[in-house]
Amino acid sequence: MDCLFCKIVEGSVPSNTIYEDDLVKVFLDINPNTNGHMLIIPKKHIVTVEDMDEEIDARILEVKKKMYKLLKEKLNVEGLTITQNNDLGQEVKHYHVHLIPRYKDDCWKMHFRQDNLKDVKEVLSTLID
Ligand code: AMP
Ligand code: ZN
Repeated sequence: MDCLFCKIVEGSVPSNTIYEDDLVKVFLDINPNTNGHMLIIPKKHIVTVEDMDEEIDARILEVKKKMYKLLKEKLNVEGLTITQNNDLGQEVKHYHVHLIPRYKDDCWKMHFRQDNLKDVKEVLSTLID
């Protein structure tokens, strides 16, 4: 399969690996938003959250906590923003969670805001009708 992150798992594409176990791998993002920006990926080829299973998701949660502890201890990070894109906005079609360390005055902000926003009540009634 022609998947960049599967190649990173196999080792045919190099990565700056921080951690790995039987289910997941963690490596530094090559185009970091802040110092220590890393990606957690499942070793299995999963594309979006729709394909995610409980066992791997539980491991990802454990590893998020472990990595946050590491970042706090080693890079003195003061906060952590966690994102995971699905389909639109997902450049690499192999599931990955971004761990973006936050530092005071880092000036990094996610900004997605639609121009033609609907009324919150209208969205609510569409979602729960
Ligand atoms: P997304 O837009 O959520 O699919 O994010 C993909 C991320 O993968 C981006 O932040 C890229 O910088 C990162 N990326 C792409 N190729 C590599 C690579 N070979 N090693 C590490 N990170 C990568
Ligand atoms: Zn893959």
